[in-house]
Amino acid sequence: MRKVAIYGKGGIGKSTTTQNTVAGLVELGKRVMVVGCDPKADSTRLLLGGLSQQTVLDTLREEGEDVELDDVRIGGYGNSLCVESGGPEPGVGCAGRGIITSINLLEQLGAYEEDESLDYVFYDVLGDVVCGGFAMPIREGKAQEIYIVVSGEMMAMYAANNICKGIRKFSETGGVRLGGLICNSRAVDNEEAMIKAFAEKLGSQMIYFVPRDNDVQRAEINRKTVIDFTPQAPQADHYRNLAKAMDSNQMFVVPTPIETEELESLLLEYGILETA
Ligand code: ATP
Ligand code: MG
Repeated sequence: MRKVAIYGKGGIGKSTTTQNTVAGLVELGKRVMVVGCDPKADSTRLLLGGLSQQTVLDTLREEGEDVELDDVRIGGYGNSLCVESGGPEPGVGCAGRGIITSINLLEQLGAYEEDESLDYVFYDVLGDVVCGGFAMPIREGKAQEIYIVVSGEMMAMYAANNICKGIRKFSETGGVRLGGLICNSRAVDNEEAMIKAFAEKLGSQMIYFVPRDNDVQRAEINRKTVIDFTPQAPQADHYRNLAKAMDSNQMFVVPTPIETEELESLLLEYGILETA
């Protein structure tokens, strides 16, 4: 079983990319579980056809300790399995703790056992925070493979570089490795070449370049992945290709984060500040 965590700047497209890629993986015949690690509980909406009504934390609050796997794990698109950890009551408690509680509960309930015949578990993690509970999947070795969703916008690259610092730190004690950067395009000039160069500086690779496409929004408003809603669309093929690239990935590294100055010079080098 491969345990994958998806990180990246807030709003960069982690949840969208994760679910669309999972749709590609289930088409390849893979059995996949998605664990949403975000109090917004929107990591499985496109696979479930709507927001999950059964987060782990809500269920624990309502039913006490007497929880069964099927109370918190719901079947989604293509036999995927969907879990949302949920969050504490707004303004009370630590959201990071919820993730810890959820993953521990899933383990106790046997969600990761052999007879579940899972090929993949995906953790869709909130924002770019690499501290406390949000780093849990990498800190505790719950995830072995990290992919960072990034674009050619400076703050997205800055966040990716910081996440690499976290991975580097936790790789000393656990086996966590970076599998690559997923460029989710914001149509920045020279974006693909720049993210490739950035990935190389990190000692890693750009595993795929996902174009920006309104078919993503069309599918989203219909509560579906692109592969489910418009299977013939070019964007559906992009997600299929990303799924294949991940499935055959052999490059797992301890990343080498770069200095802010180097990041800035990368942006300059790729001509972002040039005026027409
Ligand atoms: P958060 O950090 O809040 O969890 P996120 O990183 O999970 O955010 P998403 O919610 O997946 O980000 O994406 C934000 C928005 O960007 C969504 O409305 C989605 O439709 C849009 N989006 C993501 N990828 C693409 C794309 N390739 N083309 C067009 N729109 C996209
Ligand atoms: Mg999200």
